[in-house]
Amino acid sequence: MDWLFRRLLGALALALACTLVLAGIGALVGSPVLGAALGAMLATGVLVLRDSVKASRLMAWMRVAQGTAPRDTGLWGELAYRIERAFVAGEKRVVEERQRLEQFLAAIEASPNGVMMLDANEQMLWCNRVAAEHFGLDPEGDRLQRLTNLVRSPTFVAYLQSGRYDEGATVPGPLGRTTLSVLLRDYGNGQKLLLSQDITERERNEAMRRDFVANVSHEIRTPLTVLSGFVETLAQLKLSEPERQRVLQLMAQQTTRMQSLVADLLTLATLEGSPRPTADRWHSVSTLLERAKADAIALSAGRHELRVSAENDAQIAGSDSELLSAIANLLNNAVRYTPAGGRIDVNWSRRDDGSARLDVCDSGVGIAREHLPRLTERFYRVDGSRSRDTGGTGLGLSIVKHIVQRHGGSIEIRSEPGVGSTFTLHLPAIRVRTLNASRGADAPVEV
Ligand code: ADP
Repeated sequence: MDWLFRRLLGALALALACTLVLAGIGALVGSPVLGAALGAMLATGVLVLRDSVKASRLMAWMRVAQGTAPRDTGLWGELAYRIERAFVAGEKRVVEERQRLEQFLAAIEASPNGVMMLDANEQMLWCNRVAAEHFGLDPEGDRLQRLTNLVRSPTFVAYLQSGRYDEGATVPGPLGRTTLSVLLRDYGNGQKLLLSQDITERERNEAMRRDFVANVSHEIRTPLTVLSGFVETLAQLKLSEPERQRVLQLMAQQTTRMQSLVADLLTLATLEGSPRPTADRWHSVSTLLERAKADAIALSAGRHELRVSAENDAQIAGSDSELLSAIANLLNNAVRYTPAGGRIDVNWSRRDDGSARLDVCDSGVGIAREHLPRLTERFYRVDGSRSRDTGGTGLGLSIVKHIVQRHGGSIEIRSEPGVGSTFTLHLPAIRVRTLNASRGADAPVEV
């Protein structure tokens, strides 16, 4: 209130001075009262003029509100200072609010799920990048467009228009390539919040799991049905000794088939549930090939010409039982799918970059091109009856792929029907080495 006192004092002093001066001049010309009145008017005029000038300067500053407010003394100085402070505080609040909003939007933007805001007319107000990808939208270009004009999936439109959002819905993504789980929530004044999640992978895994269970059940049911038929036969019919022997032999075959299937399933489960083999346990490639070759020779029973060659002293790091299982699977397949008189070549070689490859090449029945990409799927068979007749489970190549991937490698399959097939295991440099390279290690030797 300092300014009020000074202002009143100043106005009083001015009015007094003007009144006295003009009253004095008035007395000289014989009219002191008129002089005093003129003096008072002059003082009022000066005060009004000064206030008007200061007020207009303040108004001019307030219009643009940039820079500092006019620095006056007294009432106008105090007024300008307080208005400037209110302006600054207001601006600071706006900046803080904007920053908070930006942080909030950035957090939603970082969400792995899609978030979209719709107004009461179902027009898109805002969406994050994930939601834009899910629905194939342009977050800026499609703003304020009706969502039903942008997303035309009937399932989605029906869900949006149903008004019942207690539960979510599963809808196809744009072009039908993905599957989305969507959930709507009402908020504010008729606005809606749309949350979306890409569940394509989950759905695919679920379908694979269902297929797997169905396949396993089918594979087990078939030998079981055969076995129960034989059990009934044995129980109800009086068979001759040779007939009985034949039935028992067939029963043994089915039992072996089930045992192989269960063994392969357990192998797959173990592979999936255990950590990758470490790269510090080295095994001789020649020894692994020798052991796999012995199995293959037994299976072939002299019907095939089998040749195996490997770098001398080549070594591989990982799990020897897994690696042996992978190589043996490939060799056994080569024997099983190559008619008698055919040839099987197994060759281990190193590349310049240090990596290695194992080629298992046969002159067997071969595989048509369209089957190649699916061969390593579980239970995928080109010729089901041939596979089963030769004791196959349909899981061999999927086990091989698992094993080689666990060792950082990959499998490549080339084949031509009627000519033969080559299955190649590629192994990374970190998992292969050649001991004592000076002893002519690069020369392949017959195992
Ligand atoms: P299976 O137990 O049926 O042999 P695999 O997973 O080992 O199962 O092989 C999958 C399918 O790939 C086989 O059913 C067979 O049709 C085909 N296949 C595998 N190896 C060969 C091969 N060397 N020559 C021709 N076909 C093969």
